Amino acid sequence: MRKNYFHIAFIPALAVLLGACMQKAPESKAGNYVLVIHGGAGTILKKNMTPEREALVRAGLEAALKKGYEVIQAGGSSLDAVEGAIRILEDDPQFNAGKGAVFTHDGRNELDAAIMDGSTLAAGSVAGVRTIKNPVSLARAVMEKSEHVMMAGRGAEQFAAEAGIEIVDTSYFRTEERWRGLQKALAEDSAKTKLDHSSTKLGIMNIDNKFGTVGCVALDKKGNLAAGTSTGGMTNKKYGRIGDAPVIGAGTYANNNTVAVSCTGWGEFYIRNVVAHDLSALMDYKGLSVEEAGKAVIKKVGDLGGDGGLIALDKNGNMAMPFNTEGMYRGSVTKDGKIEILIYKN
Ligand code: ASP
Repeated sequence: MRKNYFHIAFIPALAVLLGACMQKAPESKAGNYVLVIHGGAGTILKKNMTPEREALVRAGLEAALKKGYEVIQAGGSSLDAVEGAIRILEDDPQFNAGKGAVFTHDGRNELDAAIMDGSTLAAGSVAGVRTIKNPVSLARAVMEKSEHVMMAGRGAEQFAAEAGIEIVDTSYFRTEERWRGLQKALAEDSAKTKLDHSSTKLGIMNIDNKFGTVGCVALDKKGNLAAGTSTGGMTNKKYGRIGDAPVIGAGTYANNNTVAVSCTGWGEFYIRNVVAHDLSALMDYKGLSVEEAGKAVIKKVGDLGGDGGLIALDKNGNMAMPFNTEGMYRGSVTKDGKIEILIYKN
C-alpha cells in the first residue's frame, strides 16, 4: 500500500525536477555563441563621413568585437565579454562613453552605464558619475559588490573608491570635438531662446547629430545572456539629467528566457516606452521573434517622436539591430569568428 503512494507522489516530483532542469538551459542551442555591439545611432550619413573617421570607428568596433569574442570562445561568461567589449569602446574617444563623452550644459562630462546578467536577473547601474574611467565596470561592481542596483553621482564615486574601481581626473574625458559640439549646441540654444520668447523652453538637447553611446549583448557557450550600455548621455543635457542607459528595462535588459537588449537614442523616449523590457515582454507574452519585437518597439519610439536604435540577441543567438535614424554604428561576431560591421542604413 505504502509503496503505491510513494509512486504516486514520485510522478509530480519528477515533473517538477524536469521542469526545473528545462528552465536552467531554456531551449537554447547549447554551445552557440554570439556577441553584438553598437556605437550609437543618429544622423550618420556617408556623405558627412571622412574615410579617416570611418576607419577609426570601424577599428574601434572591431577591437571591441574581437575582445568579446576572445572571452566567450575561451569559455568565459557573457558578462565578462560584455564588460570587456564595452571597456574598449569607453577608452576609445570616437564614442560617446568614457573618454570622448559629450558635455553637459555646464561643460562637464557625466556618465551613465548599466550591466545585466540574464541568468540571474542581477543588474547594476551608475548615473551621473564624473571621475570613473570605465563606468561599465563600476556598474558591475554595484551589481556584484553591493546590495543595490543603481547608484548616482558622488555616492557612486565613493563606492567606486571602496570597490577598487579606477578613478581619473575629470579632465581625462575631454575631447575637442565634443567641446565644439557643446559650443554649437549652446549657440543654437540661445538663438532659439531669442526667437521663442516662451520662458518654459528648456533649450535644445537633441543637437548632437551622432549620439555615439556604446552597448553590447552576448550569448555565451552555456546559453547565458548579458547586456550592457555606457554613455555620456546627450550634448547640452541639464539639471543632472539621466538617460535611459542606466535605467534597467529602459536602455538595458537581459533575461535568459528571452533576450538581451542594449538601446541607443533619445533616452527620454526610451524611458517612457520602457523599451528594452518591452521588447523582452513582446517575445515572452506574445511569442514574437526578436526581429519582430525589435521593430515593434522602435516603431513605438518613433510614434512618440523619438529616434534611435537598439541591439537585441535572443537565447538562441538570433540577433536584431533595428533603428529609425540615418545610421547606427553596429557589429556582430558569430561562433565561427565572422565579424560584420555596419554603419549606414543600407
Ligand atoms: N540613450 C542615450 C541617452 O539618452 C544617448 C544615446 O544613446 O546616444 O542618454
